[in-house]
Amino acid sequence: MTLPIRPDLQGLEPYGAPQLDVTARLNVNENPYSPPDAVADAIASAVRTAAHGLNRYPDRDFLGLRQDLARYLAAESHVDFLEPRNVWAANGSNEVMLHLHQAFGGPGRTVLSFAPTYSMYPEYARDTITEFVTLPRREDFTLDIEAAAAAIRDIAPVMVIVASPNNPTGTALPLDQVRALAEAADRVPGGCLVVIDEAYAEFRRRGVPSAASLIPEYPNLAVSRTMSKAFAMAGGRLGYLVAHEPVIDALRLVRLPYHLSSVTQATARAALAHHRVLQAQVDEIRAERDETVAWLRRQGYTVADTDANFALFGPFEDRERVFRGLLARGVLIRVTGPEGWLRVSIGTPQEMALFRSALLEVTA
Ligand SMILES: *Cc1c(COP(=O)(O)O)cnc(C)c1O
Repeated sequence: MTLPIRPDLQGLEPYGAPQLDVTARLNVNENPYSPPDAVADAIASAVRTAAHGLNRYPDRDFLGLRQDLARYLAAESHVDFLEPRNVWAANGSNEVMLHLHQAFGGPGRTVLSFAPTYSMYPEYARDTITEFVTLPRREDFTLDIEAAAAAIRDIAPVMVIVASPNNPTGTALPLDQVRALAEAADRVPGGCLVVIDEAYAEFRRRGVPSAASLIPEYPNLAVSRTMSKAFAMAGGRLGYLVAHEPVIDALRLVRLPYHLSSVTQATARAALAHHRVLQAQVDEIRAERDETVAWLRRQGYTVADTDANFALFGPFEDRERVFRGLLARGVLIRVTGPEGWLRVSIGTPQEMALFRSALLEVTA
């Protein structure tokens, strides 16, 4: 039988990092701490209440959740204009990104990003028949903002997507560069949306601001966040986006009806109500991150400055060998980034101790 699969999908492998049962899983930037008892109990009780209503479709517009997300983000990023109508949510920020591509991408349209960056970006574009173009980042993984502005002018993309902090490098985008991108995008005749993917925002170092604070000034700016990392809810699947209302209205056109289940909404709201408890874990991870970076540098490695819960380090002559050696010692990290680099997610102190001793052995 011939399966009429799209020519551009033929022979491809689905995206996904290994899910292996090893001692230290440090390869997909998960929060190493499971939700504390108080949070798990609140989720269980909220889901129990939701269970009684499962015969009905969920609130299609998830207004309660949007209200909670708006409140959380307003406090977290010191923005006070946020209303539920400025917030969108979906099953992970991956689905939010897909909605953006469904609404703004399509044949004959281009999305611009800056490599190395998140490996899912080209897939959202491919799946929506959108052209995906990257400019290289500079050697220190920051943006060449003049080159970026020139590319926006020349290419006239429909969206510019920047992860900040960037995955896999950890690099945060300064606010003056967000402004420069938004202003260059504003000059694109057909319009251009600047999307800052802040999946790791809560891990940023003190004094590093969020692009969310600029949304009041720029109608063509959108900031995406997720509960997968800082909220220790990768399994809960909740990502969200803040922007001006016309952007949200466009996303409402392409979402499937009832895309956020009642269980998901209840889970997310219960976790949001406990964000202070969860933030304490984030603070531990940030401290462990800074210690890991300092330790790697003391060993002579180059480590990209990181505002996320992972570190990109190198160079290695044979990074595959180091990856395999660590894995043999129960430590799973990620082969990603430019040739010679490896990325390690920040785990518990015990996991990071195992990572350090395994790395010393493998490179002895
Ligand atoms: C982990 C990550 C996400 C989160 O995706 P979810 O679908 O919310 O789990 C988004 N963007 C980047 C760059 C990431 O690394």
